[in-house]
Amino acid sequence: MFTQDFKAQPYWWDRSAPPTEQTTELPKKVDVLIIGAGYTGLHAAIQTARGSRHTLVIDAEHAGWGCSTRNGGQVSNSIKPSFSELEKTHGKDMAFAIHKEGEHSLKFTGDFIREENLDCSYAEVGCFHAAHNSAQYDKLARALDYQVPGLEHDAYMIPRSEQHFELGTDTYFGGAIFPQHASVDPAAYHKGLMGKARDAGASIISCCAAENINRDKSGFSVKTSKGTVQADKVIIATNGYTGSLTPRLQRRVIPIGSYVIATEPVAKELMDKLMPKDRIVSDTRKVVYYYRPSPDRSRIIFGGRVSLRESNPRFSAPKLHQSLTQIFPELEHTKISHSWMGFVAFTFDSLMHVGAEDGLHYAMGYCGSGVGMAGYLGMRMGQQVLGLEQGQTPFNDIKFQTRPLYTGKPWFLAPSLMYYRFMDSLNI
Ligand SMILES: Cc1cc2nc3c(=O)[nH]c(=O)nc-3n(C[C@H](O)[C@H](O)[C@H](O)COP(=O)(O)OP(=O)(O)OC[C@H]3O[C@@H](n4cnc5c(N)ncnc54)[C@H](O)[C@@H]3O)c2cc1C
Repeated sequence: MFTQDFKAQPYWWDRSAPPTEQTTELPKKVDVLIIGAGYTGLHAAIQTARGSRHTLVIDAEHAGWGCSTRNGGQVSNSIKPSFSELEKTHGKDMAFAIHKEGEHSLKFTGDFIREENLDCSYAEVGCFHAAHNSAQYDKLARALDYQVPGLEHDAYMIPRSEQHFELGTDTYFGGAIFPQHASVDPAAYHKGLMGKARDAGASIISCCAAENINRDKSGFSVKTSKGTVQADKVIIATNGYTGSLTPRLQRRVIPIGSYVIATEPVAKELMDKLMPKDRIVSDTRKVVYYYRPSPDRSRIIFGGRVSLRESNPRFSAPKLHQSLTQIFPELEHTKISHSWMGFVAFTFDSLMHVGAEDGLHYAMGYCGSGVGMAGYLGMRMGQQVLGLEQGQTPFNDIKFQTRPLYTGKPWFLAPSLMYYRFMDSLNI
């Protein structure tokens, strides 16, 4: 099952090793303090530092330790609810604005990586969104037929009879292609962002947990594990790791474990057969699987949500391997070289949120699709801190909901997940 050199850590860390702690001393005072050094925090930092604000980014672990170096590297437009669902709850104009932001986030990410010359294997390979039964295929086709004026897209359907040109499996009933979606090496992207933030003058300090935030006359006084720092503005960029530091935000995000494995290298001929177009893949199941080839096409990176409590990647790996081989039986004897997990942040309305509460700025709640959106909203939040009008996004105007009795520990997830698995097993 496991290779001899198996690692219980992200495959991406082989190419981009986590930064080792630098002995940067905590400054006494900064203009902007950013808590969380993932895509959200670093893109905010790039804006504020380029805007000549003295910027400090801190992370409780090493910079990038959160989702931003653990994800599947699938870059999509990130909006989960459909246009019609959003229209019902928020009206037509807001539904339009939200979906437009999804498009903007995807374009922003590709443009930023290209313009800033980030070496992170970004490729517009397109997404194959696979239907796990024929009803889901029909549903996908109907959704693509309805093109909202101004949100037209070039997605198209692939019937089951042509599926093998996209993906070497009979498991699915065809699916939809979204040509603009992309793949990236997430840790290499993160490493590039750290370089850009530092080049702009920001400091990044790892292993420095924010423990307490106090408002005072001149702004904020933030106690950290390395001392206290004064800041005019504070940005919270903690997403799925949002904790008791910001209880109000903690009550609004639902941390859910997401799990990934990497296979050992497979033969080129086999990869050509299984993933002939190097697409990123997701499916229509409620408990979704997402997978793709590694940037060098040697391995398959396969992710999904398999458990709520499991934190040992050695336990989650066999379950993912079993799911992988249901899709690709050819991989039955292919071993697992890496297995890891991380916490994504879901929200009660399945949307991401940006705002300022009690003077603290935040962006979070990417619902498992933050590779593009986290950076985009981090950038917008940085602009907001600079007082720039273009920083405003529709996500500023949407109420960030919580539920009575919810304090940040999702006790209700176990029954929901069981229900979703059951529905998937019924194949509906
Ligand atoms: C396994 C997995 C697979 C995923 N796959 C995809 C995918 O393919 N496509 C996609 O679009 N999205 C994916 N995502 C989601 C995506 O990675 C995230 O939405 C995105 O990285 C969030 O970035 P962030 O900067 O907001 O948060 P993170 O990168 O999680 O950073 C938050 C940081 O805050 C720090 N922190 C928390 N509390 C404190 C504190 N008190 N003091 C200091 N620091 C603190 C944490 O240590 C952490 O490093 C995946 C996530 C996971 C876990």
